[in-house]
Amino acid sequence: MADGEQFAGGGCSCGEIRYRGLCAPDQVLVCHCPDCRRSSGAQSVAWLFISSDSFEFTQGEPTEFASSPGVIRKFCGTCGTTLSWEGDKQPGRIDVTVGSLDSPQDYPPTKAVYRKHRLPWASEI
Ligand SMILES: [Zn+2]
Ligand SMILES: [Zn+2]
Repeated sequence: MADGEQFAGGGCSCGEIRYRGLCAPDQVLVCHCPDCRRSSGAQSVAWLFISSDSFEFTQGEPTEFASSPGVIRKFCGTCGTTLSWEGDKQPGRIDVTVGSLDSPQDYPPTKAVYRKHRLPWASEI
């Protein structure tokens, strides 16, 4: 493992889907884009980057949705928890929702993207 890397695990609300993968804790951001907002039902979404090689769903099979061309979002088909994001333009990387991690408190976001779409009442990060 490279410096700062550690295994992060998480899963959905009902417990049907579980995942784990290697990540660097400083690779966390908040996204304010409308696609994240709609797909999660929240004002913004915090994402943790995980290298695709190390990532696996260890239990259950998530449902997929192409939220835009070349983008796949996965979620639990039973309870609806938003779990991951993969984009053709970001090969080798899968983003998981910080909210679905077992220890989200260990992954504070350090920046925000798509800030021009941020809702006026939502905090920057
Ligand atoms: Zn579930
Ligand atoms: Zn987004």
